[in-house]
Parts: sequence; structure tokens; C-alpha cells
Amino acid sequence: MKILFYDTKSYDKESFEATLKKFPGIQIDYIRSDLDPRTAALADGFDAVCAFVSSNVSEATLKILHEKGVRLVLLRCAGYNNVDLEKAAAYDICVMRVPGYSPEAVAEHAMALALACNRRLYKAYNKVRENDFSLAGLMGFNFYGKIAGIIGTGRIGAAMCRICNGFGMKVIAYDVYENPDLKDFVTYVTLDELLAQSDLISLHCPLMDSTYHLIQLDTIKKMKDGVILVNTSRGALVKTEDLIEGIRLHKFAGVGLDVYEEETKNVFEDRSDEILEHSTTARLLSFPNVMITSHQGFFTKEALEAIAETTLQNALDFESGKKSPNQVQ
Ligand code: NAD
Repeated sequence: MKILFYDTKSYDKESFEATLKKFPGIQIDYIRSDLDPRTAALADGFDAVCAFVSSNVSEATLKILHEKGVRLVLLRCAGYNNVDLEKAAAYDICVMRVPGYSPEAVAEHAMALALACNRRLYKAYNKVRENDFSLAGLMGFNFYGKIAGIIGTGRIGAAMCRICNGFGMKVIAYDVYENPDLKDFVTYVTLDELLAQSDLISLHCPLMDSTYHLIQLDTIKKMKDGVILVNTSRGALVKTEDLIEGIRLHKFAGVGLDVYEEETKNVFEDRSDEILEHSTTARLLSFPNVMITSHQGFFTKEALEAIAETTLQNALDFESGKKSPNQVQ
């Protein structure tokens, strides 16, 4: 099997090349360009393409992949909101993903963001570097004894519930399905109850029509004053302009975002020398209680190894006609 690997970063190549030794029948060519309708034709002669969160796997892309004989899209990530699944099926292109490479990696990053916002670690770090040892602007609140509200209790949400429980927080959750593994220490409530009661709200549901802009002015107004909001799931779960409005209304003690609506062009790129002319992200960053990271929740050694292993196993399963739960329907 020949795979064209899009949007390659040095760490991708390192982890895949190391894992490839266990998969002798697979050959990978790495390119830096991301997958979109302009670059899809490069997959001519390949059986599969390997894509990531910011790849554009729309109908236009899939049509070209189909014409070039590609039969498989290997997503090296969990989310698949960037894939037109209906069209993939119509073009007889199988889509496979890596559903649970390291839920703890993302959940630990969510807690890191929550703590960093609460205790203004980014500000403290810079102050001390400037020999400013005053505590002005650094006051936070104890997580111990407070209420954590987790929206979406699948793999990552469940890991976040366990972390919050470990901090001595009372954990409440909202999900369309209740996770039986959490029944000993998580109380399921309605979304409105979660919004009204939580001191920390962390989003872990996927982006779908039903969750698009789940957090907008109406839902923000239902939250407690002084809440901390963390999003490590997908940017469009939060309507950015309403979030900015909520921050201006002093609703939040802190906001930690690993994902945000405008991120697609930024993800994993160094744009430090560019002038961002129309950026709501820049507006978000102007607030002292907001911390943004660039979709790095997954970025641990363990997660990268697991991603490479599962992606290559997916390729092998497809090749041998084995039914796999990692196939996205
Ligand atoms: P999962 O499928 O295991 O869990 C998702 C949960 O959300 C499920 O329990 C599901 O029932 C629930 N859900 C579905 N619709 C809902 C709704 N309307 N309201 C509330 N809950 C709902 O997924 P996961 O592995 O835990 O990943 C969650 C998300 O995290 C992914 O969809 C992906 O977007 C994101 N993610 C981010 C990173 C990162 O680096 N920041 C890495 C991996 C995944």
C-alpha cells in the first residue's frame, strides 16, 4: 500500500517512520502541503492519503482523489468534521480515524489551561522575568470543593472527570449518553443545570450540527459569574463573537482555548511575521484572562506513537478487508 502523507511536520515523520518498521507492506511519501482541492491531484498513483484536522476533505477534494484512484482517507486524528462523509461514500472512498489515541493527553491539557487561566500563570511567568515580584492581577480561586461541569463524557471527557475528581471537585456532566464507568463520582444533569452550577466548564463533545455554537450568548448568560471555560474540543462549539461579548460583560474568571473558530489557517504554522488584519483571535488575546494554545492537546510522545500505530493498522485492516470500528460511517 502506498500512502501520500499530507501536512507533514518533522515530529509526524519521526513517529511514523519509527512505527513503519512494524508494517513492511506499507510505503509512505511525505509532503508539506495540506490536503485540499488544489493539492488532491498529487495523490495520483497512491492507494491512500493521510490527512489531519485542518485538511479540507470536502466534496471537491474527494472527487479529485476518486479520479486519481485513491480508495482510503486515513485521518490521523479523532475528529472528522472536516470530511464530507456522504460524498466519500458516494465516491467509494473509505474514511478511517484514530478514535482514542490518548484521551489523557487532551484532558491533562484541558486541566493545564484551566489552572493556567485561574492562577494567571502566563502573566506570573512574564512578571517574574521582568523582576516584578508583586502579586497584582494573579488572584485565583481554589478548585478544591468547587463544581466541574464536563460537557461530553466520552474518552476525553471521562479522563477530565477523573482529573477533576482527583482535585477534590464535585463533578457534574451533560451528555446525550451517560457513561456507566463514571457513575460512582459523576452526576449527570441537564445542560442548563450544568451551566448554572459549574465553576469550571470543559467542553469535550464533538462538533456536529447539534453542538455547533453550543456556547453562545444565551448559554453564556446562564453560566455563573466568575466561571472558567475551557475548550479543547473543536473551535466552532463556541461562537467567538459571543464569547468576546461575555468576556466584556465580566462573566469569566478565565477562558482557556486550545481550539477556536479561526484556527484553520494558523494550526501548526509560524505566522509570527504576518500582520493579522481581521482577527477575532487577536481580540480574544487582548484580554488578560484568556489563554490560547494552538491545538496542542494531543501533542504528547505517547499520543504520537499511538496515532502512528493505529493509523498504520487502519491501513492494514483496510487492505486485508477486515472490518474495523475505526471506519467512520
Ligand atoms: P468521544 O466520541 O469518545 O466522546 C464524545 C462524547 O460527546 C460522547 O460521549 C458523546 O455522546 C458526546 N456527545 C455527542 N453529542 C453531544 C451533545 N450534543 N451534547 C453533549 N455531549 C454530546 O470523543 P473523544 O475522543 O472524547 O473526543 C472529543 C472531542 O475532542 C473530539 O470530537 C475532537 O473534536 C476533540 N479532540 C481534540 C484534540 C486536541 O488536540 N485538542 C485531540 C483529540 C480530540
